[in-house]
Amino acid sequence: MGLTERISNGDHLETWQGNFPLEHLYTVGIAGERVLRELKDHGRLLGTRCGRCEYTYVPARLYCERCLARLDEWIPVPLGGSLASFTTVFQDVDGRPLDPPTLMGLIALDESSGYFVHRLGEVEERSLRIGMTVEGVMKPVGERVGSIDDIRYFRPV
Ligand SMILES: [Zn+2]
Repeated sequence: MGLTERISNGDHLETWQGNFPLEHLYTVGIAGERVLRELKDHGRLLGTRCGRCEYTYVPARLYCERCLARLDEWIPVPLGGSLASFTTVFQDVDGRPLDPPTLMGLIALDESSGYFVHRLGEVEERSLRIGMTVEGVMKPVGERVGSIDDIRYFRPV
């Protein structure tokens, strides 16, 4: 049976044993690449604004999710805002324990319409308060790699 043949009778199913090597490459897309390059090279987080919807997307999007307009108004968004929520994460994305656990924040950036999820640092969980003012801390230029992790964390101001 070839890969393009359709199976209409379950009695004709076949199986193969063994390993199937796969690799994948995740791309961040046109907007994501511009955002990450700007973050790495200039330490600025970029957003895009939809004037029709009066909505600022951070990180930047190419199209408005509300009206589907192409967005070409790119703006740097300061890394300041307020803490909308927070949690402690005990496992990484693969289920491995994090030691120590990581504090994560949902941050309402001052010049953005949505929320931004990132690590919290220089703070203990018991000191966190909803609404507290926070600011992003960038890695030094030589340590940046073009990742959202070039923002080391957000800390209370
Ligand atoms: Zn819009």
